[in-house]
Amino acid sequence: MKIKELLTSRLGRKIFVSHLIVIGVGVVILLLTARLQAPYALNQHIRQMEHLIGESDVLRQNLMNTFQAALNEVLLIAASGALLAAVIISSFVAWRIVFPIRSMIKTVVQIADGDYRQRAHFVWDDEIGELAQNFNRMAEELHSTETRRIELIGNVAHELRTPLASMRSLMEGMIDGVLPADFSTYSAVQTELTRLQRLVGDLENLSQAESGQIKLNIKEFDLNNLLEQVVLRLKPQFSEKQIDLKIELPESALRVKADRERIQQVLINLLGNALQYTPPHGSVQIYAESKHDMIVCGVEDNGIGLSDSEIDQIFERFYRVDKSRSRVGGGSGIGLTIAHHIIKAHGGSLQAESPGLHRGSRFYFTLPLNN
Ligand code: ADP
Repeated sequence: MKIKELLTSRLGRKIFVSHLIVIGVGVVILLLTARLQAPYALNQHIRQMEHLIGESDVLRQNLMNTFQAALNEVLLIAASGALLAAVIISSFVAWRIVFPIRSMIKTVVQIADGDYRQRAHFVWDDEIGELAQNFNRMAEELHSTETRRIELIGNVAHELRTPLASMRSLMEGMIDGVLPADFSTYSAVQTELTRLQRLVGDLENLSQAESGQIKLNIKEFDLNNLLEQVVLRLKPQFSEKQIDLKIELPESALRVKADRERIQQVLINLLGNALQYTPPHGSVQIYAESKHDMIVCGVEDNGIGLSDSEIDQIFERFYRVDKSRSRVGGGSGIGLTIAHHIIKAHGGSLQAESPGLHRGSRFYFTLPLNN
């Protein structure tokens, strides 16, 4: 039992032993065949040579013995050579198979211990090489997920710190008698609480969106009608900042099959951003049109604009071009990430364009048209 375990507990030994068994069986068959078949074959040949050597039984026996001895000698040399070749070749084959697997096991253990930068090394382009390549891809994915997880915790902690610190200083001010315990102080605390509540709601939405679990309540509706409603709702805020809000819609209805609430959430995010990043006396336009079998809906402003590198990053979660600037307005850099996921879940896409900094920007999304 112990020998069996010793021979089968390692893949390299298994391959080595299996090769030896194959060659061993070959040698045994060869020897048996030679022992059983050779006397008969020799006898036949000697009988054919009788006219040359005469009918001497002694000579015939001598000839038989000599041939048998020579045959045994040759077979022994051949069997030893075959065995040696089998040992060398099977050791090489076993090493070739086992070496990359061992290196992969080492990497797997290191990754399981939390070192996500480790990669498996592969030398050959065979199935094991393919396995190592795919394993490395998986390790890459794990690494980026882990990096994003750590980043997310850092970002959430960072976002929570500001409203919490503000509330704490307001409370301390009241306790120390520096701030009056009146309406203005309480409403400042309430503003921070609202900000916290909004952040928690955004995080909830974000986690749903990123795990692909956005629940959509799909119904058919007219997008024109929704746009008019959203504009009516946000108009006072635009007027307050003296920003001209225009709406341009086609005359015929734009029928879509989508989640009305979610599309409204996207529109409010885009219009809210346009309001925030456009200086007073600027202008913002919201429009929608049908193109082939899609609807294109966008929000264009003549505000602070975006550089090319900023455009590449604005859909990443917690990304803000100017951290301090957005913080004043309460933005946490999650809105566009959620909007992007919502539109994607509807089978459309959300994109941004800008001719450059201080030259305005355009955010637009597509949705399949319901004919
Ligand atoms: P936030 O809550 O910070 O506005 P978003 O995800 O909605 O988060 O936007 C991410 C960032 O994209 C913003 O912080 C801002 O820097 C940039 N951004 C969004 N909309 C505009 C816009 N219309 N003009 C210029 N920059 C914008």
